[in-house]
Amino acid sequence: MDFELSPEQKAVMDLAAALARAHAPDTTVSWDEAGSFSWEFLQALASAGLTGIDLPESVGGQGQTLVDAILVIEAVAAVAPHLADAVHATNFGAIRQMAAFSSTSLVDEVIGTILAGNALPSIAMSEPGAGSAVNDLTTRARREGAEIRINGEKTFNTFGPIATHYVVWARFGDGQRDMGAVVVPATSPGLERGKAKRFVSGEQYCSLHFDDVRVSADYLLLDNDGLRKMMSVFNIERLGNAARSVGLGQLALQLATDYMLTRETGGRRLSDLQGLRWKLADMRIRVDAARLLIYRAASTLRDGLPQPGLVAQAKCFANEAGFFAADTAMQLFGGYGYTTESPLDYIWRRTRGWMIAGGSVEIMRNRVASEQLRSSRTVPNIP
Ligand SMILES: Cc1cc2nc3c(=O)[nH]c(=O)nc-3n(C[C@H](O)[C@H](O)[C@H](O)COP(=O)(O)OP(=O)(O)OC[C@H]3O[C@@H](n4cnc5c(N)ncnc54)[C@H](O)[C@@H]3O)c2cc1C
Repeated sequence: MDFELSPEQKAVMDLAAALARAHAPDTTVSWDEAGSFSWEFLQALASAGLTGIDLPESVGGQGQTLVDAILVIEAVAAVAPHLADAVHATNFGAIRQMAAFSSTSLVDEVIGTILAGNALPSIAMSEPGAGSAVNDLTTRARREGAEIRINGEKTFNTFGPIATHYVVWARFGDGQRDMGAVVVPATSPGLERGKAKRFVSGEQYCSLHFDDVRVSADYLLLDNDGLRKMMSVFNIERLGNAARSVGLGQLALQLATDYMLTRETGGRRLSDLQGLRWKLADMRIRVDAARLLIYRAASTLRDGLPQPGLVAQAKCFANEAGFFAADTAMQLFGGYGYTTESPLDYIWRRTRGWMIAGGSVEIMRNRVASEQLRSSRTVPNIP
């Protein structure tokens, strides 16, 4: 077991951090910046070979490892929290579902455009009546000759207002296994985007309304057993989300450390007060532990995919560690921490969202508990 990063891994983290710093010299993120997606940074990532990092070269990826992709998103998030959206979109989110299940050159073409930094995909999974219970989704898709016809409604699509393609999770029949997914270009007739709204963190989202939308059957990803297959790949998205929590937690820790070393109150530096030093220690312990859980989940793949139980542990712990670090740092900064001029404003709001997005911490705990209970070899003798 080696806990040291290799020189190559350190180099790729340095490259990613330098690129992020060049595009966002200030860690303070304004409301406007949070709400807009940086196409410029996305193109810079593409030029530096940091899109599709662990996707196969056959679909235009870099053929590296999932750990490499994790290191890059963590490094960018720790320098320029909002710019990690571009790393996320081109390495962890909808792109993974396209790459895993694409069977036509048409979808490969879309993937190539995204990896080149010229298109932006969004996951259209959640519905007003189906969030955690994704099994309950009601959006319908039906194959009709050379086309797929889609009807239904989606919600909470991150960057939905500006996305160019959606991976729409849909029901192809009434059976449990009749779930699937289809790529829908944003320009498709019959697809209407709802009003652009914002999450608490500032990022835009919208609802999507599909009224007899027709796309070429070449855009079909799956029409059978889709939920199980898509969820396996969705675990990669969860690790990206978790790594961003760690990156932001690390940034909060660094900001708090610097502040404690300089801020004096009542003739003493904050760093001399033991009660506050312990807060710093707790932040560091949790951020480090979260990082290790993520690296474990990203490096113990089965059939090329992370194991759901390990991902659930990592995501749950990392999401809470990131928010804990942000919240504690805000407290250590006192009044300034709670202003919109403080970098902690955005870090705090953003880390909070990841405890809900991509499978909430409750759903992650459900998974961990199920695995733990299943692992017991003894059947309890219940009276
Ligand atoms: C920042 C952000 C970005 C998002 N981006 C996207 C996106 O790009 N695409 C997309 O499709 N969706 C997206 N979502 C939606 C997200 O996936 C859902 O919000 C999430 O799955 C929870 O679903 P829900 O909101 O319907 O809550 P509900 O499922 O109604 O849950 C409500 C509460 O009950 C808890 N709960 C539910 N079921 C259980 C259970 N069985 N056991 C214990 N507790 C339970 C939940 O954890 C939650 O606290 C995003 C959400 C956020 C916050």
